[in-house]
Amino acid sequence: MTRRRFSAILLFTPVAAIAAEGRATVTGRLQTSTGGPVQLKTQDGKLITLEGDISTTAVLRDPRVIREHFEAAGEWKSPGLFLIDPIHRKALFIRRNAELLVITYWCEICAIRTYAPGRCQCCQDETALDPRDPALENTAP
Ligand SMILES: [Zn+2]
Repeated sequence: MTRRRFSAILLFTPVAAIAAEGRATVTGRLQTSTGGPVQLKTQDGKLITLEGDISTTAVLRDPRVIREHFEAAGEWKSPGLFLIDPIHRKALFIRRNAELLVITYWCEICAIRTYAPGRCQCCQDETALDPRDPALENTAP
């Protein structure tokens, strides 16, 4: 009993650390319009404009991500404008049930993981959306 509790804490601490880190977060559903900005509709119906680097924007426009409950970390630029942290800071998440998963893309053939959608740099196959536990991020694939 004690041992199980201990390992559960070990397992969940890194997630909390990543989410906390002093970064602001926004949560909701992504809304995209062709050419227009990407917006996030919060649970109380507010629309927030999201900005980020090129890779981040590619994730925001990924139809597989748009279907999900989305969360991002970054900073508020103004009350309606949220700047998402650069892609290397791993600021893009999906929430499934109670779990916060970092958005990654995976090529099964080459075992290559990336953080933006598109073709695998090695075999040129389309990578698969592979959201996973942020605690895994510092370990092998
Ligand atoms: Zn590949």
